[in-house]
Amino acid sequence: MHQLPAIQKVVFASANAGKVRELHELLDPLGLAVIAQNRLNIAAVDETAHTFIENALLKARHACAAAGLPAIADDSGLEVDALDGAPGLYSARHAERHDAGSGDTANYEFLLHQLAHLPEDRQRRARFRCVVVYLRHQFDPSPVIAECTWEGHILRAPEGQGGFGYDPVFCNHDTHTAAALLDTQTKNRLSHRGKAVALLVRRLEGILTTAQGPA
Ligand code: IMP
Repeated sequence: MHQLPAIQKVVFASANAGKVRELHELLDPLGLAVIAQNRLNIAAVDETAHTFIENALLKARHACAAAGLPAIADDSGLEVDALDGAPGLYSARHAERHDAGSGDTANYEFLLHQLAHLPEDRQRRARFRCVVVYLRHQFDPSPVIAECTWEGHILRAPEGQGGFGYDPVFCNHDTHTAAALLDTQTKNRLSHRGKAVALLVRRLEGILTTAQGPA
């Protein structure tokens, strides 16, 4: 990736430790000073919208307003073909929405339970989707937006300890490796978020130097 010109601070509108780790790995080498919003005592905003893009904008706008800084936000989720795209937008609360507990382990265990009757990899096709947005300021009328997916299938049992969320049960389509077995650098090269952020950075080149808020 290229070095971005004369960089300022950017708040990352997430407190998800897994996402924050991946964002640092992607953006620190570019000289971009990414600060997770919880480090600025900014609380999470309710994700009330009906699309990834609207939720990402909600989060970024909230972080911009609270921090007085440009913001990057992502909204992401897992789409399982056999479940007509669920859990999708509701991936973070999948188990909770079905009264099956809460948190990452409960989420993927419930998903494994839902797919237990499907033995073949091709019946278990799934993809992660990520929309990442950059807002120069709270009222920025032209956000920079990038979206990417990561194709794979859902394993029959969890594998690996790395990553977060559904990583132990998501198998990368090309290498047949569980996402939780990948180091952060490899995951970022393959993943929905890694590819979306790389695309966002390409679109941001030339914008960041003039991105200090409303004129
Ligand atoms: P949100 O973007 O904060 O709404 O959360 C998206 C949810 O999707 C996360 O809490 C995870 O459950 C799941 N997810 C998104 N990206 C990943 C990933 O890279 N690995 C595993 N799970 C993910």
